[in-house]
Amino acid sequence: MRLEREDCSGFLVEIVQGEGGVRALDANYLKAAEALCREKNVLFCVDEVQTGNGRTGTWFAYEQFGLSPDLVLTAKGLGNGLPIGATLMGEKVSETLTPGSHGSTFGGNPVAYAGALSVLAQIDDAFLADVRAKGDRIREALAAMPNVSDVSGLGLMIGFTVKDRKAADVKAIALEAGLVVLTAKDRVRLLPPLSISRSELSEGLQKLAQVLAG
Ligand SMILES: *Cc1c(COP(=O)(O)O)cnc(C)c1O
Repeated sequence: MRLEREDCSGFLVEIVQGEGGVRALDANYLKAAEALCREKNVLFCVDEVQTGNGRTGTWFAYEQFGLSPDLVLTAKGLGNGLPIGATLMGEKVSETLTPGSHGSTFGGNPVAYAGALSVLAQIDDAFLADVRAKGDRIREALAAMPNVSDVSGLGLMIGFTVKDRKAADVKAIALEAGLVVLTAKDRVRLLPPLSISRSELSEGLQKLAQVLAG
């Protein structure tokens, strides 16, 4: 791997691409990218806006690849609908922000903070293990669906391809059946709530099987 520009200050990567098709990057690529950043004194930063806060079955996806990023960006799951984002700063950059240097008009909103604190209070080892188990349950069910292939993703962030069907059509038909799925490029994307119950999960998988069989 080569770094062409010597004036590069940071490298930002999505460990599991969301919109890009729910593709986890290759572990060797990530390790090599991190090593190159260290060697060139370039900040190694990960975008965990979508993958963070338990979505992939660990607090952050980078943990599953043994990485130590300098900066971690996170948002979606942290707010669970409330507008909040956070930047976690490693040692190398820990002194760069000082009180008052990062103000914004609606920053520090107490309602959003209360929401995020209640989310953080829910996430512990048992919760994360449950996310992984529910992800495995979905993967097992998908493996038994004959027209599903190329299942990817981590935890409760799952993508797959459906043979002879457009992902957009699957999404529309699923919605009619009362099941919300997303697409990512030409693939179907599943992002169920981390708190989904086992019975809701079974019901959703049953509907998905019916939609794909129909
Ligand atoms: C949603 C999303 C963003 C955009 O975050 P904003 O807070 O809306 O700017 C960036 N990266 C990833 C991976 C996302 O999923």
